[in-house]
Amino acid sequence: MTSVIIPRSEHPVSRKHIHPDALKVMYRLARKGFTAYLVGGSVRDLILGRTPKDFDVSTNATPSQIKKIFQNCFLIGRRFRLAHIRFDDHIIETATFRRCPVQEEETDDGELYMLRDNCYGTPEEDALRRDFTINGLFYEIERFTIIDHVGGLSDIRNRLIRSIGDPNIRFREDPVRMIRAIRFAARLDFHIEPVTYNAILRHHEEIMKASSPRIFEELQKLFAFGCGEKAFRLLYKTGLLHDMLPEVAEFLDHDHGQDSVLWDWLAHLDERIRDTGKAEPVLLFAALLFAPVRRVADRYAAQGERVVFAELLADLLTPLCTRICMPKWMSARLIQIMVNQTRFEPDKRKRFSKRGFVAQDCFPETLALYELGLRVAGDDLSHTTAWKDLRREVESERPVSDGFRSEHPRPPRKRPSRRRRR
Ligand code: ATP
Ligand code: MG
Repeated sequence: MTSVIIPRSEHPVSRKHIHPDALKVMYRLARKGFTAYLVGGSVRDLILGRTPKDFDVSTNATPSQIKKIFQNCFLIGRRFRLAHIRFDDHIIETATFRRCPVQEEETDDGELYMLRDNCYGTPEEDALRRDFTINGLFYEIERFTIIDHVGGLSDIRNRLIRSIGDPNIRFREDPVRMIRAIRFAARLDFHIEPVTYNAILRHHEEIMKASSPRIFEELQKLFAFGCGEKAFRLLYKTGLLHDMLPEVAEFLDHDHGQDSVLWDWLAHLDERIRDTGKAEPVLLFAALLFAPVRRVADRYAAQGERVVFAELLADLLTPLCTRICMPKWMSARLIQIMVNQTRFEPDKRKRFSKRGFVAQDCFPETLALYELGLRVAGDDLSHTTAWKDLRREVESERPVSDGFRSEHPRPPRKRPSRRRRR
């Protein structure tokens, strides 16, 4: 691939749209004699006219040289040191150019991991070690050009997700890239080009070699920007869903596949995320898992077996949540909001305090899941207003200091780690 420099007159990226702190970092590095580029997702998003989530910088200055230049710089990471340059409310991540791990790291049994990801490199090598061409562009602040070592600009124009290098190698090096390909395709409404797509079909099972916490994080990111439905359709189509969440994939297999009711759940969830601008993590998994667990409960009921819904949920979901490394506070909350669904039409024989119910910490997510269910069923939502009013009433009566939390559940604080003895 020949490298191309695109002059300012031929691309749409303007300094106006770059965060002033990112510009500050690049200009200061340049004044000290270093090369510094804006890199990664921010360049891609600026070309597409979108607002970048964050601005990353790559430079030929080493982490210790960066630290000397910026007082507000903190070095993080053991294997590959990164500089975090901290500003009031955000960080500009500044990394030294690095290159791909060397090829001979293929093990005897054909495994190909990124064992060593910590070698500094040239700008071109830094572009080549990135995942997709659309993420491999550099923007420089001397002449405001875009430097394209990987053919990223034409792929952006053609709306294509293409692996940098052979995807059969790149996906084995880091299988999480397969989920990333799907995330970018869904979020940007791009196509995954055929060679890259076929490599996902061929290597999807390797995803299980990635660490569970990383997969869990990636799964959550798929819902950001309200593109969950498209992303999960692709996960299902490529086989990745069968590897990561077989329970959900099997439900889809038995529920008309691409015409399943689950897609309605995800479509309504996407709509909610786009409307509210937030993707509540517990609600994401609740929307994904409620129809599959409901199906199991209905099957027991059809066989005439009496099962306690709460116990069934715990039996089905606890092993799943543990396997995908969902934090305990979150899985407990997930089960609770699903159990709570039965309480909107309470059993008249049981004593039931509506006020106690709406006072629950997880009531907002409980109601959100209930509303999603009503939308999926095409039912009327007007009676949910009474529940919302009651919640407001109960909330206003509670003193602020009693720990009653409404909209923003927080994970419990971690216990401080014990100091090691020398
Ligand atoms: P987002 O807008 O979601 O943050 P992004 O492209 O900025 O998208 P990040 O996860 O923030 O994605 O990563 C920043 C950049 O680092 C990417 O654009 C890509 O160039 C590179 N990168 C991230 N993860 C990988 C990976 N697993 N393999 C290779 N390169 C990666
Ligand atoms: Mg980013």
